[in-house]
Amino acid sequence: MATQVEDKFMAMNVEAATRFRTFQPTAMTITKESSCRIFCRRFFICILLVAVVALSSIVYAVYSYASNLSDVCHTKECLRSAAAFKQNMNLQADPCEDFYSYVCGNWADDHPRPARHGAYSWYDERQTKIYRNIRIQLEANVTRSDPKPVAQAKSMYKACLSEANRERYGFTAVQSYLKEFGLPLTPTLLNRTKTSARKYKFDWISSVAKIQRKLGLNVIVGFNIEQDHQDKNRNRLTLEYHYRPDELRFPAYEWSKLKAKAHGRRPVAVRSSSQDTDESDNESAEEEEEKDGEDDEDEIDTTELAESFARVIEAINPSIDTSGMDEKMNVLAERFAEFHRSLPKPLNSEDESEPEYYTVKQLQNATDHHIKPKKSYPVWQRYLDVLFANQPDAKPSDDEQLQMTPENVEFLGKLIDVVSDQPPALIELYVWGTVASFLVDHEFNDATLEEECAQVVHKLMGLAVSYAIADKSFLERTKPRVEQMLTDIRDEFDQMVLETDWMDAYTKYASLEKSKAMKSLIGFPEWILDDQKLEEHYAGLEISPTRHLENWVTALEFMNTGWLRSWKVKNNEVWDMDPTEVNAYNIFDRNAINIPVAIIQYPFYYLGLDALNYGALGEVLGHELTHGFDNAGRHYDKFGNEKRWWSNHTLQEYDKRAQCLEEQYSSYYVPEAKAFINGTLTLGENIADNGGLREAFRAYRAYVKRNGPEPVLPGFENFSHEQLLFISFGNQYCESISPAVAKYLVEDEHSPSKYRVLGVLSNMPEFSEAFQCPSGSKMNPKKKCRVW
Ligand SMILES: [Zn+2]
Repeated sequence: MATQVEDKFMAMNVEAATRFRTFQPTAMTITKESSCRIFCRRFFICILLVAVVALSSIVYAVYSYASNLSDVCHTKECLRSAAAFKQNMNLQADPCEDFYSYVCGNWADDHPRPARHGAYSWYDERQTKIYRNIRIQLEANVTRSDPKPVAQAKSMYKACLSEANRERYGFTAVQSYLKEFGLPLTPTLLNRTKTSARKYKFDWISSVAKIQRKLGLNVIVGFNIEQDHQDKNRNRLTLEYHYRPDELRFPAYEWSKLKAKAHGRRPVAVRSSSQDTDESDNESAEEEEEKDGEDDEDEIDTTELAESFARVIEAINPSIDTSGMDEKMNVLAERFAEFHRSLPKPLNSEDESEPEYYTVKQLQNATDHHIKPKKSYPVWQRYLDVLFANQPDAKPSDDEQLQMTPENVEFLGKLIDVVSDQPPALIELYVWGTVASFLVDHEFNDATLEEECAQVVHKLMGLAVSYAIADKSFLERTKPRVEQMLTDIRDEFDQMVLETDWMDAYTKYASLEKSKAMKSLIGFPEWILDDQKLEEHYAGLEISPTRHLENWVTALEFMNTGWLRSWKVKNNEVWDMDPTEVNAYNIFDRNAINIPVAIIQYPFYYLGLDALNYGALGEVLGHELTHGFDNAGRHYDKFGNEKRWWSNHTLQEYDKRAQCLEEQYSSYYVPEAKAFINGTLTLGENIADNGGLREAFRAYRAYVKRNGPEPVLPGFENFSHEQLLFISFGNQYCESISPAVAKYLVEDEHSPSKYRVLGVLSNMPEFSEAFQCPSGSKMNPKKKCRVW
């Protein structure tokens, strides 16, 4: 356009000049009258010319100004992104030496870490914001248009907030639950000697099965529902050797809380290979798995345990004053710890082989065989009978086959061997201590009462609470765009598979099939916006406006009952994750990825430019997709069956490339943790990170090809869109860590955030090109690793 205006302007001048020149030679011969006419005409033409020239210049200037303006994005989202990047970046840092410091150098300054967070990142900040919104929704008065479950969630919140009511009704509720579980109000050992305790009778199997039935809490024995490892169309029951310190709710719980803070809500974290539908605890499966492997650090501190016993006993029995009972409390704590120590050490899941099928009878025989020469100790049939007593329809038949690994069966034998030797009053103490503290301390954390209550309601009625943050406009506007982004990313992944020179044709084909079949659950289940369906989902749940503890247990039981009943039904559309969680999942055994609405927010999305969106949420989508092809995900085929579908040669080539990443990440020393990253532990996440960003980067290029270039970001006029994409990628990992939790940084499956950024970008030639990093600089090493 500019050239056109200019050309027109020139043409007018030429035309005017010619006319004028043509005029002049004839002027000498004209009459007076005609000379005036000619003069006037010339004067008029001059004025006209000047006006035309002036007007053209103005139009040209305005046009150029306007066209420059439209090249800069001035939307609210762009301005926010630009301002935040500027605020967080440390421009003194060299992007080619340490890109993390360059992007996140000033983040901690602008985002002070609240004391109760050991690690604080964008993920935590956004999660806090979601909880705040939930709280606002719960605080609002019930309206006529609220579906029943939403009104119930509000009642539950109000009941939780009333400390007077909690005190008034709380202890009687715990008392009635203990009775229901066949437990006394104080541990029998409190008033008995060792000898008299031996004569005491306690039906621990019935007690722990009832606890599992009502609260979904594993005590001594673990119970779970899993997908059949050979047939994804059905589920199997499994009995596990079970011990998880976080469920003790005693000092070990405190310890695990600290640890959970170090790892909790780690960015784009969780890979789940099992159908972990036990939602009674919000902690992610990876954290639990991790704690399973611990044995020394969760050693019980008996001093603290004694104090906990005193507190719990008083809470349940207001008439008892434990102030003069230190000695007795110490004995209880010692005995509890003694029992705990006697249990066999947890099984390392890596040592377990393929699951097999066992009828309950076979399992019982294996257990009895293990505890020989003691006489038979019937436990499993009884446990299942009590567990399913209230759901005859869901009760497993006598020849039902449980799914268990042989190692697990062996461990259950050891467990029963140990437990069957203990005095009943000691077993009772252990069960009592676990469940009583679970009930008394269920809401114990360091949040304010409002936060705590919002979290409790959120945990128990997640979908009713999600109703408040789920809106139709997301479904109409945002979801299709995110789906398009995922399509772009999937296309690039497919393209990358086709481009590889190390995969044979068959494995390539199977990979493309898997990527094509991968389901995506984006945002929230749409049916929650349908009042009737939401009401059906919560049908039968009764909530009291005053009785908090009862509400809590009722909702737990409600969820647990649904879970127990559902084991015979196969449902592929199950949301493993609350829509309100700022995270994302790949569910291997369903070949599905889950992207909750909570992560589809700033600074992962709505960043103003798609270069920024692809660098953040795009990378999250790519990360989750790539998990399906990481060192663990690749074991599952397109149906989610654990199956071998890779040729030997391709597998060798894959391992070679994975080995490179392992070595790369193992070479990173984390000074705060005083340790190197474990490249083996973090391999799956690193493969996903590296593949994810490459896919997002390529997908963005394809996007630009389709839609044309985007405007620039204000204040970043000199930055290319590629550079902006990388900045947005780095930005989502900004965080600050307290020294207290730093040592746990290298225990997680994810590399510490800083190294997630450095590791991925130093493997990408596209990054070095964008930032002109000299070869051999830290961010552009000669040796680069790449799986996908
Ligand atoms: Zn991941």
